[in-house]
This record gives sequence, C-alpha cells and structure tokens, in this order.
Amino acid sequence: MNLILLGAPGVGKGTQAKLLMKRYHIPQISTGDILREAVREQTSLGIKAQEYMNKGLLVPDEIVVGIIEDRLKAKDCDRGFILDGFPRTIPQAESLAEVMDRLNMGLDQVINFELDEQTLIKRLAGRQTCEGCGNMYNVYFNPPRQQGVCDLCGKKLFQRKDDNLETIKERLSVYQAQTMPLIGYYQAQGKLVTINLGESEGPDQIFDRLCKVLES
Ligand code: AMP
Repeated sequence: MNLILLGAPGVGKGTQAKLLMKRYHIPQISTGDILREAVREQTSLGIKAQEYMNKGLLVPDEIVVGIIEDRLKAKDCDRGFILDGFPRTIPQAESLAEVMDRLNMGLDQVINFELDEQTLIKRLAGRQTCEGCGNMYNVYFNPPRQQGVCDLCGKKLFQRKDDNLETIKERLSVYQAQTMPLIGYYQAQGKLVTINLGESEGPDQIFDRLCKVLES
C-alpha cells in the first residue's frame, strides 16, 4: 500500500502515520523528521535546511525530492510506504510521480485530513515531544501526568523550535498557498479521500475512520 497523508501542519498526520506503520508494517516517511535529524547532526543538508525551517518556510524542492528518491529505493519500501509531509508543492508531486514511475511503484491513495484553523493553532502551540522515545503530548488536549516529563519513559519533553505562534502562522499560510493546490491535483487523478476531523476527536477515533476508508 503506497499512501500519501495530506493536511495542514498540526492536523495529526504524523500520529496517524505511526499508527498505520504499526498496523500495516510499512514505513512512515516524514520529510520533516528526516530534515530535523539532519539539522540535529548539522550535516551540510541540515545546515542548508534549518534557515528555512526556523522561519516556517518550505525547504527547496530539489533538496526534499532527493531525500525522497533515496528513501523510496530502500528495501523496506518494497511492500509500501506512508508519505507524511511530502509532497508539499505541485512540482514535488510531479517529481514524485516521475520517481515512482522509474521505481515501478503506483500510488494507491491520498488521504486529506481537514481541521479548522483555530484548533490547528492550539494543537501546534501545545505540542510537546519526548526527547527519549518520541511520544507526543499536547498541553491542551493530551497533557502528560507530570508537566514536562514523559509518561512512558520519564525523559524530558521539548517543544519544536517552529511550534511558536509567529512561525505557526507562517507555516499555515505557506500550507494554504503552496500545499492546498495538491488537493485538486490528486482529486483530478481520482486518488483523493478527504476526512473532516472534529476538534475533540482523538487519535484512536480518527484511526478507526482512516482504516475504514483504506479497507473499503
Ligand atoms: P513537518 O514536520 O512536516 O511540519 O515539517 C517541518 C518543516 O520541515 C517544514 O515547515 C519545512 O520547513 C520542512 N519540510 C518538511 N517537509 C517538507 C517538504 N516536503 N518540502 C519542503 N519543506 C519541507
């Protein structure tokens, strides 16, 4: 199963991708995670990417397309993959189609998650991640038992550098201008399914709905 998860920052693509990975045993490919790792390690790619990421802007297409091409060639993508945060522009989607053609891969479905903007802002501003196991929390919707500490492994929680109000607003406007056109692009190919989310819907409820879509 080759899937793309589409949706604004904060909609919960990463959480759903992790649940899908567990159920279907196919890898989650998050360009955001790959880029953050490169920034942490200060590789030449990371140094280039961080100035865009800190401002909430998109990293240039050729950088992310190169990352995806290398990643899709890996053995663990043979049985399928979940793209999370890629593509984010029409040129990225076109390059993805070329790469997948070359690798003899077909796209099965694009899931487009939608949620109102006020909730997206709260989700991003309240988001915290464990530095040890990567488990995610939200100070508004899903707080840890002890403030700043992971329930699962006891390590410290941190907030992403780009989850501050100014950068969040920039990321949402970049999403509207550059990524939303992908909805029409994939709709025209008959690949798109939209799932409208409610403010109080939790990850498990959403996952049930997602699985029904995929299995129907
Ligand atoms: P995310 O974790 O998906 O919210 O991505 C965090 C940041 O990484 C974005 O704000 C961009 O700066 C960068 N990024 C992630 N994926 C892409 C992509 N497909 N194209 C360009 N920039 C990306």
